[in-house]
Amino acid sequence: MIIDFNNDSHKNTNEYDYCISGAGAAGIALALRLAESGKRVALFEGGDREYSQVSQDIYKGKVTEQNPYWLDLYRLRFLGGTTNHWAGRCRPFVEYDFEEKQINDLPGWPISFEEMNRFLPQAKSILELEEIDTFKIVENTHIESEYFEPDVSASSSIRFRDRFSEELERHSNVDLYLNANLVDIQLEEDLSTIKHFVIQNYNQKKQSFTAPHYIIAMGAIENARILLNCDSQISSGIGNQTNMVGKCFMEHLNIRLGEFVSNKASWGESQSMQFMTTPKLAKEMNTGLSNITFGTVRQIKAYGRTAEIKALFNKLSCQLGVSEHLQFLYEHDCIGEGVISTLCEQFPFKDSKLALIDEKDSFGLRRVELDWHLSQNDIDSIRNMSIAIAEEFAENNLGRVKLSSFITDSSQKIEISGHAHQMGTTRMSASEEFGVVDVNCKVHQTNNLYIAGSSVFSTGGAVNPTMPLLQLTYRLAEHLTSIS
Ligand SMILES: Cc1cc2nc3c(=O)[nH]c(=O)nc-3n(C[C@H](O)[C@H](O)[C@H](O)COP(=O)(O)OP(=O)(O)OC[C@H]3O[C@@H](n4cnc5c(N)ncnc54)[C@H](O)[C@@H]3O)c2cc1C
Repeated sequence: MIIDFNNDSHKNTNEYDYCISGAGAAGIALALRLAESGKRVALFEGGDREYSQVSQDIYKGKVTEQNPYWLDLYRLRFLGGTTNHWAGRCRPFVEYDFEEKQINDLPGWPISFEEMNRFLPQAKSILELEEIDTFKIVENTHIESEYFEPDVSASSSIRFRDRFSEELERHSNVDLYLNANLVDIQLEEDLSTIKHFVIQNYNQKKQSFTAPHYIIAMGAIENARILLNCDSQISSGIGNQTNMVGKCFMEHLNIRLGEFVSNKASWGESQSMQFMTTPKLAKEMNTGLSNITFGTVRQIKAYGRTAEIKALFNKLSCQLGVSEHLQFLYEHDCIGEGVISTLCEQFPFKDSKLALIDEKDSFGLRRVELDWHLSQNDIDSIRNMSIAIAEEFAENNLGRVKLSSFITDSSQKIEISGHAHQMGTTRMSASEEFGVVDVNCKVHQTNNLYIAGSSVFSTGGAVNPTMPLLQLTYRLAEHLTSIS
């Protein structure tokens, strides 16, 4: 059933087995899986079915001058969450991501690659990628190298709101509340057991909902933000006794490494090539993993949303009679010139963090300030990897690379932007010293509060986060049903 919390209240607020806050990819997948197992689920979504400025405004925050970021543009706050405009690119983690390592004095994943992979079929299934046995090379990429290999991925066209609204409406075990914002989490006297979620609509109405188990699935910024804001009973916030909530904010680094001229004979008809660094490079040159895209100027990425935009652009160019100019721009490829971009791993680093500021949103919750920092290990990783790919590109006779000056000149600051992949702010760690959730995604210092989403990533690798966060969501569902 779908309930508009702006208009209808719910009398029996203690009839549920689980309260889940946030109906994006993680929240919807979790609610449906738990409901399938016969449990009663309340799913609270802060937004409505459609975008509204009043809801989106809650996502505003500040960003320090370290590196630019757009907190309210990189996320969407309504049913289906940010998947309402995601690009759908999917790639699984690799074994190397789960090898034991210590980075910036922090441990990596406390679970194994095999454990993560157990849930790949379920994640592929919800993304309607079950037909895919192996993820495909994006274009005609080829390289002979120990340090780089052709990158692979798959493309999902699922928008969670459009695909699952009907199922949520129909399912007798799920109540989806729209315009239902989690504004407080109250604890029992033991300060470890969650007593209830406080849910508020846009007309100032508040109601408490009770269940044996609670899950927050509101995206990596909001998951940390709500824990920090809930400080009426524990002054540092919930789950934050070791001061780790909001720490280790990670992104996938988008860096314009430089430009290249391609060797036409080696490229053939290819418009772009995408390479992935190998674990050998990572180990020998102390780099993270990275996707590196060589795209000719003519090539605009053509999967998911960007493919649609490109198609629309082509169509319009004919209708508006400006086709000649646009055709020129579209086909302009400067004898094989192109730019090199990345989706590069950022290592977990405590100084890269979120903190609350005094400014409040319309519910009286403090907004966040993001201080997005690279560590020296990241800087070394980017420079080492860039030089290696430039050398291998030339050795493979694919063309010649001119690296950006901020790569070759270590006195300059490396210019980065993000991919709208927020991760790590409630990271998973066996010990509460290094993270916020345990191996079962339960907040360390609580008995019954869990987190779903990429905020629990211990490291982010160089893979788009949604498919792996869904794997962890299904793992969480298995755990929750096994204990109740
Ligand atoms: C332009 C763009 C392109 C992207 N492309 C890709 C891609 O190709 N591949 C990929 O893997 N990822 C991509 N992503 C990232 C992807 O969208 C996210 O990884 C994914 O949406 C995260 O799912 P989630 O459920 O954790 O969070 P979200 O989808 O953000 O959902 C969180 C939900 O919580 C709700 N909420 C927030 N606060 C509250 C509250 N207080 N109370 C109740 N509800 C609340 C929100 O309204 C929202 O519905 C892209 C992102 C952007 C912006």
